[in-house]
Amino acid sequence: MGLFNSIFADLKCPSKGGISKDTEIQIKWQHQKARGISSYRVGDVLEEIEDEYNNTWIRTDFICNACSKFTTGWKGMEYIRSEDQSRHVIFVKIEKSKICEILLEAEFNKIGVKDFVDYL
Ligand SMILES: [Zn+2]
Repeated sequence: MGLFNSIFADLKCPSKGGISKDTEIQIKWQHQKARGISSYRVGDVLEEIEDEYNNTWIRTDFICNACSKFTTGWKGMEYIRSEDQSRHVIFVKIEKSKICEILLEAEFNKIGVKDFVDYL
């Protein structure tokens, strides 16, 4: 529901080991007025971020374009049907409104951090 912004990143696929390129992670972590217009990458600052999502790790997921099955649609456009979406869990670190790091679940478990905001 409503508008969202997006983070784009190349993410490692934990099932096949390939790279899910330019993968969109939809976020609603900013105040309403800052939503629906922007895309970000790691290193960018999320302006008007809500306190809840600042200075923390956030658990979310992404639709993997390395291991989801693509369907060829109209005019040869390739897309992933919703029933074919393969999702993986990731953790995003926000520090002082900045997108610092994105880790896969296995990597996150290794660093031993127990506190995070659940956005799944
Ligand atoms: Zn995958």
